[in-house]
Amino acid sequence: MLDLALFILIFVSLGIGYLIGRRERVRRSGHRSSDQLSSEYFVGLNYLLNEQTDEAIESFIKALEINSDTAETFMVLGRLFRQRGELDRAIQTHQDLLARPSLTREQMLDVQLELARDYKKAGLFDRAETLLLDIVRQQWPGWRESIQTLLSIYEREKEWDKAIQLVGSLKGVQASGFESQRSHYLCELAEQALRESDVLSARRYLRQAARSSFENVRVSLLQGQVELKIDNPKDAVKALERIVDQDRSFIPESVGLLEEGYGRLRSQRGLSTYLGRCLREAPSAAVVMASARLIAQQQGEKEAGRFVAEQIVKRPSLKGLNSLIDIHLQMAEGRARQNLMMLRDLTGRLEHSKPVYRCGQCGFDGKELHWQCPRCHEWGSTRPIMGLEGE
Ligand SMILES: [Zn+2]
Repeated sequence: MLDLALFILIFVSLGIGYLIGRRERVRRSGHRSSDQLSSEYFVGLNYLLNEQTDEAIESFIKALEINSDTAETFMVLGRLFRQRGELDRAIQTHQDLLARPSLTREQMLDVQLELARDYKKAGLFDRAETLLLDIVRQQWPGWRESIQTLLSIYEREKEWDKAIQLVGSLKGVQASGFESQRSHYLCELAEQALRESDVLSARRYLRQAARSSFENVRVSLLQGQVELKIDNPKDAVKALERIVDQDRSFIPESVGLLEEGYGRLRSQRGLSTYLGRCLREAPSAAVVMASARLIAQQQGEKEAGRFVAEQIVKRPSLKGLNSLIDIHLQMAEGRARQNLMMLRDLTGRLEHSKPVYRCGQCGFDGKELHWQCPRCHEWGSTRPIMGLEGE
């Protein structure tokens, strides 16, 4: 139904294009254009009325000449072919358009972008890249989309160096708005270096990533991991504590690493001070549980249980409840212990059924933290879920 409505729209556009073209031909040649064109047009109309949309489109294309007046219509047609997965026809339509010298400069650039998108969808990344490299530094309304399309190809191919190089080569107004993306590309390289145990390169990439975007919490988390890996807990803690000023919803991601870092520094006091600040300014289930672990070490399980119960009243959460049951399980015996285990099994399953992270851009959720959303492809838009069923 949507297709039919679009085809009718295209038909109307083609009709207008046909009339403009005919007027132009009449003006140029001084006599009426050939009847062949009008007959193709009405044959097309007949097909359309019979819902034979493919045949209708073929007739309209034959009836029309491509010029700057009809270019937009052909571009819509090409996009429609691409959306329907008819990539050969989309490519052909856009290539035909590109071969016309009558198009304006902006129209040529628009067609190049459309053709690159056709190639990308067809998996012809090299051809798409060649076309896009030609237009990404041009000034025209579609410049940002052209850059994003080329970057999306590099992202898909994991060619992070090329993506960083492209963003770095942009000048003036084009250079702004890519800082966070560049920072994530550098994090990708840092993770790659870490997998290869190349700690020095990982640290270098992360320093560059931090310079590119201070707000990128992923940099701090990775720096924390790297510094712990080389047994430098002081700098690990420093990097991880930055998260409270960057994006508080990520504090739960850093708590385990911080416990590790402060543990190696043998500084329960340092951990206690930081967790206390988080509890006041940005409470979460992870912070409550880490605080409870600390209290259990210092004052025993009973005191830890009292603390968690207090926190759950202030800020109810499923995770907090599970943590409270765990504490009581350690102290309970006999029938009471059995009942608690049943309850823990139930609430555990309930917690397990809930997503942990959600994309703020498109709502995609799941149990894994994706720095680039798998659905909308936005970078850094996925965060831990807060509240009753989350943190
Ligand atoms: Zn998303």
